[in-house]
Amino acid sequence: MGARTNPRTSNGGEAVDIAGRPVMVLGPQERRTEHSNVVVMKFGGTSVADAECIMRVARRIVDTYEAGHPVVAVVSARGDTTDELIELAHEISHQPLEREMDMLLSAGERISAALVTMAISELGHDAISLTGPQAGIVTDTAHTRARIIDLKPERVQTALDQGKIVLVAGFQGLSVDNDVTTLGRGGSDTTAVALAAALNAQVCEIYTDVDGIYTADPRIVPEARKLETISFEEMLEMAATGAKILMLRCVEFGRRYGVDIHVRCSFTDTPGTWIIQGEDQPMEQAIVSGVTYALEDAKVTIHNLPDKPGIAAKAFTALAHANVNVDMIIQNVSEGGITDISFTADQEDLPTIRQILEDMRDELKFDHIVTDTDMAKISLIGAGMKTHPGVAAKMFETMASNGVNIEMISTSSIKISCVIRRAFIEDAVRALHTAFGLDVSMVRRSEED
Ligand code: ASP
Ligand code: MG
Repeated sequence: MGARTNPRTSNGGEAVDIAGRPVMVLGPQERRTEHSNVVVMKFGGTSVADAECIMRVARRIVDTYEAGHPVVAVVSARGDTTDELIELAHEISHQPLEREMDMLLSAGERISAALVTMAISELGHDAISLTGPQAGIVTDTAHTRARIIDLKPERVQTALDQGKIVLVAGFQGLSVDNDVTTLGRGGSDTTAVALAAALNAQVCEIYTDVDGIYTADPRIVPEARKLETISFEEMLEMAATGAKILMLRCVEFGRRYGVDIHVRCSFTDTPGTWIIQGEDQPMEQAIVSGVTYALEDAKVTIHNLPDKPGIAAKAFTALAHANVNVDMIIQNVSEGGITDISFTADQEDLPTIRQILEDMRDELKFDHIVTDTDMAKISLIGAGMKTHPGVAAKMFETMASNGVNIEMISTSSIKISCVIRRAFIEDAVRALHTAFGLDVSMVRRSEED
């Protein structure tokens, strides 16, 4: 259900997502066609891992600046800093306070921002680092998974106007209650694209340790191929179905505000993959652009619920209010007015889900809940599916001929996802990649023809 974070407008005119939480709206500037020449560059944790990397990043930023662009650079925490800080917190507390987690984790990005600023200064340029709050990033109050609801770029703009290079600590903001918040794992991407939108930049460059977006995870599919371009709608589906390369929310921002995203390697000069607006796409679209998989989901089945209006609404509204992202949902055929509902959600939300449903047991009148974490989700994504029938049939046939049982299915106009047993996932991804002609050797062969 890709629509779960799509903004809609409530009666008051304020933009909210499906759970009623406010989302950022830039108003009339939305999808501006006239861009400033500001370049927003984002560097991931591996790009700033040590002093040598930091110097390399500083040089890259300076090169862009010297080419005549005002530069805002967003940085992630160095290397495994975030994981180490999380581990440390868990050594001290089983359930660390979320507000304090945000204070703790936001430090990782501040360290990177300060160090890169020092490196730029060593190269003889004027730079300043800002925390997320100083950069004007305003979020809701959902600690550890906050959403950006506003961006006040005045301070960044003033520094740019003074000719300074601006470093911004990614992944963090200031809540409407004046507390430091973080944006969820991988959140620095979102910081960068939101800043690019607010500064009216044409492109947000995301520098990382891979050289672009691939048709499948190259670690399990040696035949995976780098894509030159991909549309926002396809990238949204890829991010939502497990591609780790970009945070979903960052892609949503890019699409809404017309910021192209260039994902590229921080260690080379080769162009990476451009994520571009659909109307800029070549006419002939590939039927399938990629195969993704996710191992982080769990399946929850609520057994023996009364099959009557309002039951599903109650359960899923409660889950949405607790920020639980529910993905696929299926309801079985009911017998004697009793039914089962299964859905998938993040494994890490299982304790919350259990708690919420158990608390509603009297209201929902179900029998029991079963959870299953031994599952995986495999998805096929492609804008060309809209106009080509038979893609689902071919996907199911490929699974069948590899002896893979399909347990749940969900589709959108450009995506088909199946839940299967985890043990089959790698083989299934490779089989689909080959079946849909995505293998690098197959593409080369057909280009030679
Ligand atoms: N440091 C945070 C993380 O590891 C945010 C980021 O890297 O984007 O998730
Ligand atoms: Mg990271």
